[in-house]
Amino acid sequence: MKQTRDSIADIWGERTPYFDEQWPERVDERVTEEPDNWIQAACVLCSAGCGLDIGVKDGKMVGVRGRSVDAVNRGRLGPKGLHGWIANNSKDRLTRPLIRRDGELQEASWDEAMNLIVAKSKEIIDKHTSLGIGFYTSGQLFLEEYYTLGVIGKAGLGTPHMDGNTRLCTATSAAALKVSFGSDGQPGSYSDLDTANVIMHVGHNIASQHTVLWMRILDRLAGPNPPKLIVIDPRKTYTAEKATVHLAPKLGTNIPVLNGLLHILIKENLINPGYIAAHTVGFEELKNIVAAWHPQRVEEVSGVPEHLLYEAAMLLGKTNTLVSTVLQGVYQSMQATASAVQVNNIHLIRGLIGRPGCGIYQMNGQPTAQNTRETGADGDLPGFRNWGNKEHINELARLWNVEPDTIPHWSPPTHAMQIMRFAETGSIKMLWVSATNPAVSMPELARMRKLLTRDGLFLIVQDAFMTETAQMADVILPAAIWGEKTGCTTNVDRTVHICHKAVEPPGEARSDLDIFIDYARRMDFKDKDGAPLIKWNTPEEAFEAWKECTRGRPCDYTGMSYAKLTGGSGIQWPCNEKYPDGTPHLYTNGVFPTAADYCESYGHDLDTGAAQTPDEYRLIDPKGKAFLKAVDYQLPHEVPDQDYPLWLTTGRVVYHFHTRTKTGRSKELCNAAPDAYVQLSAQDAVKYGIKDGDMVEISSRRGSVIQPAMVGDIEPGIIFIPFHYGYWDNNSRSRAANELTLTEWDPVSKQPHFKYAAVRIRKAVAQDDEEAQAALKHMEEVITNNFKMEGA
Ligand code: SF4
Repeated sequence: MKQTRDSIADIWGERTPYFDEQWPERVDERVTEEPDNWIQAACVLCSAGCGLDIGVKDGKMVGVRGRSVDAVNRGRLGPKGLHGWIANNSKDRLTRPLIRRDGELQEASWDEAMNLIVAKSKEIIDKHTSLGIGFYTSGQLFLEEYYTLGVIGKAGLGTPHMDGNTRLCTATSAAALKVSFGSDGQPGSYSDLDTANVIMHVGHNIASQHTVLWMRILDRLAGPNPPKLIVIDPRKTYTAEKATVHLAPKLGTNIPVLNGLLHILIKENLINPGYIAAHTVGFEELKNIVAAWHPQRVEEVSGVPEHLLYEAAMLLGKTNTLVSTVLQGVYQSMQATASAVQVNNIHLIRGLIGRPGCGIYQMNGQPTAQNTRETGADGDLPGFRNWGNKEHINELARLWNVEPDTIPHWSPPTHAMQIMRFAETGSIKMLWVSATNPAVSMPELARMRKLLTRDGLFLIVQDAFMTETAQMADVILPAAIWGEKTGCTTNVDRTVHICHKAVEPPGEARSDLDIFIDYARRMDFKDKDGAPLIKWNTPEEAFEAWKECTRGRPCDYTGMSYAKLTGGSGIQWPCNEKYPDGTPHLYTNGVFPTAADYCESYGHDLDTGAAQTPDEYRLIDPKGKAFLKAVDYQLPHEVPDQDYPLWLTTGRVVYHFHTRTKTGRSKELCNAAPDAYVQLSAQDAVKYGIKDGDMVEISSRRGSVIQPAMVGDIEPGIIFIPFHYGYWDNNSRSRAANELTLTEWDPVSKQPHFKYAAVRIRKAVAQDDEEAQAALKHMEEVITNNFKMEGA
């Protein structure tokens, strides 16, 4: 085994300070054997999208190394990237299709499994129309696979019931970008981090979630002209420890804090009137709404001290360059879209957008979440087209050579929470889940288990592992994963990477692209002329078809090709005749994609989510100006009370991704973060008689979990539980954080609220109760030993 550093102990590695505003290269590598060859790819364990090469020896993956030529990471990799690949070699991969017969999952051939799915599809369509079929996909597949799935759903079946687990992690990102700028697409580039004087992280523990981006910031901090950091997070995270100003609001109070920052900027005249007048609409309304949010009121509601709010506002108001990042602390909380939009507003009223050093990253949670959104696999229309614009529907109908009415545009697409509701009530009769694990990641898990196992629901799970969801399936399709197939991924700053196939998938596992195409062929989906609807067979052919779909749209890929993406760095869209090398910054001329004929959305009321009609939008057509929108504060839907006196918030740890289906197969990552826990403040620990290591029962109105306690680094009144941990490797106790969370969502983005719930705690087993602790530990070991974890 060879590694350039132990990234478990040394998460971010040695500092390589900036020189002449250049971020130096540093190549991180970890291999278990010396590779025979290296294959170009990108990491798919978070949305940073670091370029890497996969080391291959004797047809087997043996490690990874960062790509020094890649603009995203310049060779660096974090602990997940350096270790997560080992999951590909895991002995518990799914290798054959499985069909449930007499209650048992039994091995089957691909023909048997696909014929069963096709027969079931046809039966449902005959009896109930294709509205009986729903798809729930991922932020883990490749662009080509999502696009194929999108065309099957929209032009083959004509079902509006399609969404991704991106609804849980990035729906608010897309919604906030559409609200402010008229279309999805991040305005900036990671290179903005190289020169920004102020960097603000809102609800984003970047040090843990995007370790390589944090390395870039640490290197700025270690070099000349270090930036000032503003961190808005209720917990004292790694990121908050480095903050110039740390604002720690109470849960659910992002709007008061962000409205308060806007209030001070406007009151102190730290705005750019010329930019506001030339490039935005809605300033007077914004000004009126934030006028009431003076610092004293913000402190009363959010707990953020007046002087700290003022300090943060002065940093924002006096800088000429600013990068802001936003993530789940905003997206999964109350008034998610409205809060994310306030960050866009800060940039717009200061004119800090569309040039180097000025970036807004409404971050994504997953590596290919951007592709789910671009291609329409999440319910949106491909190429950021507008459901309300008939001409956009016609464009797609022409492209796919189908009748426009085939494309289900009579109502808004069904979002994931509603898809689950339809599966629960029986109107969705077949649910096809690919590369995601709702039995652990969705809120209110007791309800989720019940609906996924409901009599009459035919559940298909397409995955590489026997997840908690797969265990409930009627048919399991074994999927090839990253490294075993070719395709493209697009990260947060619009960088497109190609991931080449490095090794063969195990057993009979197939790529998701092959599975979807096989389904389309067996279903005999045709275009208007009787030709196959899906006209491609390979990833590259799918990519070429996708390029045509993006022509003239904000995410224009027409200047890219597999050849161009191979050998160097990733390329940022739009990439076309005008921008053959890609585009680092959008909106450089202050023109935004808001014109009525071009925009991706006609907008929503931020309070209620009510959609604006095409006619209403055309009346106020901003014709290329950005929107400034704001709302007042609303109380969270559930607040602590006498019975449930504490706030619960959930989140991630640095060593794991999603529900650990991949990172949970690495011995080193598991050893570094072996189990869920509950973090509580020292004050609450005293109040409830809890010590570090005690087993604590946490209950909400929806369920209970038992977790070991970890005391400190969090505000009193709040507890934190990481959401990664389910039951596939340890079902000795109830431990998944989502047993406790509530079924509520943002009115605009429809993203569920994982960041607040009212709970109570009590000590279950004391740390010094050796007998009880030993019994618990034994139980866990028995379960864990039943699963093989790979590592080196
Ligand atoms: S930062 Fe994200 S993309 Fe980069 S190596 Fe880590 S997990 Fe992979």
